[in-house]
Amino acid sequence: MPVPSVDTHCPYCALQCGMRLTGSRVEPRDFPVNAGGLCQKGWTSGDLLRSGRRLTTPLVRRGGELEPASWDEALDVVGGKLRELREQHGPDSVAVFGGGGLTNEKAYQLGKFARVALGTSQIDYNGRFCMSSAAAAGLQAFGADRGMPFPVTDLGGADVVLLAGANPAETMPPFVQHLRGADLIVVDPRRTPTAELAGLHLAPAPGTDLALALGILHAVVAEGHLNKSFVDLRTAGFDEMWRIAAAWWPERAERVTGVSAADQRAAAAKLAGARNAYVLTARGTEQHATGTANVGGWINLALALGLPGREGSGFGCLTGQGNGQGGREHGQKADQLPGYRKITDPAAREHVAGVWGVPPESLPGPGRSATELLEALGHDDGPRALLVFGSNVVVSAPRSSGVQKRLSSLDLLVVADLVFSETAALADVVLPVTQWAEEDGTLTNLEGRILLRRKALDAPPEVRTDLEVINGLATRLGQPAARFPVDAETVFEELRAASKGGTADYSGVTYDRLRAGEALHWPVPDENHPGTPRMFLDRFAHPDGRARFAAVDHTGPAELPDADFPLQATTGRVLQHYQSGAQTRRITELMDVVPEMFVEVHPDTAARSGLADGERALVRSRRGETVAKVRCVGSLRPDLVFLPFHFPGEGRANLLTNPALDPVSRMPEFKVCAVALSKVDT
Ligand code: SF4
Repeated sequence: MPVPSVDTHCPYCALQCGMRLTGSRVEPRDFPVNAGGLCQKGWTSGDLLRSGRRLTTPLVRRGGELEPASWDEALDVVGGKLRELREQHGPDSVAVFGGGGLTNEKAYQLGKFARVALGTSQIDYNGRFCMSSAAAAGLQAFGADRGMPFPVTDLGGADVVLLAGANPAETMPPFVQHLRGADLIVVDPRRTPTAELAGLHLAPAPGTDLALALGILHAVVAEGHLNKSFVDLRTAGFDEMWRIAAAWWPERAERVTGVSAADQRAAAAKLAGARNAYVLTARGTEQHATGTANVGGWINLALALGLPGREGSGFGCLTGQGNGQGGREHGQKADQLPGYRKITDPAAREHVAGVWGVPPESLPGPGRSATELLEALGHDDGPRALLVFGSNVVVSAPRSSGVQKRLSSLDLLVVADLVFSETAALADVVLPVTQWAEEDGTLTNLEGRILLRRKALDAPPEVRTDLEVINGLATRLGQPAARFPVDAETVFEELRAASKGGTADYSGVTYDRLRAGEALHWPVPDENHPGTPRMFLDRFAHPDGRARFAAVDHTGPAELPDADFPLQATTGRVLQHYQSGAQTRRITELMDVVPEMFVEVHPDTAARSGLADGERALVRSRRGETVAKVRCVGSLRPDLVFLPFHFPGEGRANLLTNPALDPVSRMPEFKVCAVALSKVDT
């Protein structure tokens, strides 16, 4: 019988390109965000479906070794230990760590499982490492956080687009076709493939993004380009913001950032002269201990120009992970309940508890954020057990050597994953779960559009879905099986009810509407509602309908270079790999291109350190050291080195990174830390 083709979406990034799967064979299809394009990761994404490099049986640690076990054995071990820990040490002795790649249904069910079955407040997810600063700044400014409050295709009508810390030409190449008609201003310390496309590339010193945003804003106002009627009618807080920004004339910003005042004024003039313009941010400006303020600075610039809240212009954030948007809306975040509701809001607690059939007072309060949770593991007042779903924290968390030690010291570490990741290797119990194409589920892409990813082929027999795993654990904790259904559409029906009335209202979305191909961007408050492709056109989501300027000032990175650590390091992605590389490092075609850890260094800096292109370098920070192959890059700033964060072992970039946290978003400072470079002693 011929294998049927199924229209679905890529398993990787938040663009969620449309593709057609026939068995494990991938073809692109015409979908608005990718218009028939796929990047190399997308083209090769079927390779892992029939790969021998995936997990196919549960593993339980016995006598120090992980050994194959039946599902009943594995789940009984976990259930028994969880009951024991909760009885002896209370519900917060057990923690849950989720992921931004989990479907909406899984993210929802995981949050419910933590709060109802475990009764723990200790749940957070790896999205905290990804877009939390943009989310926090968006909430502060607009009263609602949807990465792009407009469809991606709107960018095609822009004259000018400013990209701050975004490198889509490398991280999501099909996205770039929407920027073809625009004059690009790219803000990035590195000359990235995206910067190569720019009419104006501004390369600030690492950690000085906000000073640059303030300098450009100052030029906008000083040159008479402030959109006064927009500011008066649709915003609040300009005067408080300007009391700080007025001191950031471009010459002062030049001294801090290294970007010339003339270039700052040129950027201001380009943006002000555009009929339609956008300001977009991504991880480069967000992953800082000042990430929320940085994004606030770029939003201030957009608001001063009157860009948000009007069709054809705007402000947005390029969300990173496949379900980075939906993953932060349905309750796997430490401070949230489904529908993007605050867990501290009594009305939200009552509504969600009603849907879950439990008393509101039984729901725990907010828990620790991701980094704080991982740092607390194994401490006297910290969790003694951790359940990890869809995340590889040994590679992706900051100061990861400490995380590795703490995971090893736990009473119980459980990892549900499709591959034997570096985190799974430390686990007491490993649970093999299905992949994207082996199950139904919804995701919400970077433009807030809810998408159905459909089952295209059967999983190996000994593999279960995450929803089945959650059900198996919940029933072992005494929960009725019906409270934790295993069918994705049934879970989605409950999610709809839980989200009703919330900021991210999915109550009008049904699987049937998605199967019919309707383009549904949240909020969708009823089944006759067409969705909301463009938000904020009439009013922003604050009670008074006005957007808020942020009164933010430049403070700089948490750590500066000195005589011992004279360089700055920044981290990021390459085209061929995704996140911790757990999936893409198992795909031969991708590994053939980028097989190992490397460090980009300016040739003069390499020479001063006694290093040549292709040699192995030792990169040290105040927290650890990593080994990487030198790539000399003449366009790189001599004071900067770049490391991709996809590789494990002694080549982990996150052995170096600084866990200093943003005070609002609790984002760690992945994007800048002080390092030293030397030859590897042989
Ligand atoms: Fe997949 Fe993102 Fe590449 Fe599209 S751009 S094919 S969604 S990884």
